[in-house]
Amino acid sequence: MRAKDLLCPRPEGLYCPPGDFFIDPVQPVARALVTHGHSDHARSGHGAVMATRETLDIMGLRCGEDFAGTTQPAAFGETLHVNGVAVTFHPAGHVLGSAQIAVEHGGMRIVASGDYKRIPDATSEPFEVVSCDVFITEATFGLPVFRHPPAEEEIARLLKSVAQFPERTHLIGAYALGKAQRVMRLLRDAGYDRPIYIHGALTTISDYYQSRGIDLGRLEPATVETGSKGDFADAVVIGPPSAFQDRWARRFPDPLSCFASGWMRIRQRAKQGGVELPLIISDHSDWDELTDTIRDTGASEIWVTHGREEALVRWCELQGIAARPLNLVGYEDEGD
Ligand SMILES: [Zn+2]
Repeated sequence: MRAKDLLCPRPEGLYCPPGDFFIDPVQPVARALVTHGHSDHARSGHGAVMATRETLDIMGLRCGEDFAGTTQPAAFGETLHVNGVAVTFHPAGHVLGSAQIAVEHGGMRIVASGDYKRIPDATSEPFEVVSCDVFITEATFGLPVFRHPPAEEEIARLLKSVAQFPERTHLIGAYALGKAQRVMRLLRDAGYDRPIYIHGALTTISDYYQSRGIDLGRLEPATVETGSKGDFADAVVIGPPSAFQDRWARRFPDPLSCFASGWMRIRQRAKQGGVELPLIISDHSDWDELTDTIRDTGASEIWVTHGREEALVRWCELQGIAARPLNLVGYEDEGD
């Protein structure tokens, strides 16, 4: 079987003709396989959805329990059949429950990795290398300039600033699913044991992480109405980036604006966003993780999507690996 007969791009998303299903479709379809819970990958309104237990739970929490007609959980490593096509979910290391999906039929195996990272993250199952004929990789940070420092070093810089400016609130922007919980956990692993104050938009997902055994320590609501402004001096407050434009963010004493994102590698971007303390913490692979992974899968062909396709396609060609951009539309990752 030829690869393009097993998976091909369609306006709705990546389609499998023999299995009659889509992977991460951006429009409502009859049957969807979903890699993870970020909103550009996990949309409501499909007839049937197959995903990991955690991704299904997260979709229910974010989109409402009636987000799909029917759901089917897929355990990591378990092979299921959809219209005779074998599909297996493997950990992607991106956020809790995130999966790569291996699709196998007629002697051809394609792995659609969704979003992924390789570096250790206590809030997500570690990425698993799956050998395949064709590997579909993201390219969010697909330029050699993107090399993420160890997240622990970024958290150490944050804690140094907290110690240095005890009269100020450290206000950290972090996406609601994945990044916020990772920052909480990194703070705990660095020995920070005081309460972490969180915006209301983070409560549901953070509670869910805790219910799945990921210890985030004591979390308290960051509501200024109930106390005086001075209450949050010396506090670490985490909120979604969108809340930084709200009145909510201006209520804290002399807030010191931080933002946890792989994009903080670009100084100009931090400056434009008024970020005083940029934290380069990413849930996506950097350039080295992308190129290492392409090699590790042993794939003879690479399809590149979600981001800086050109540089990665060029790199593959220089290595003698066939590669092409997939040109899927509708993905603007909310997770970094
Ligand atoms: Zn994502």
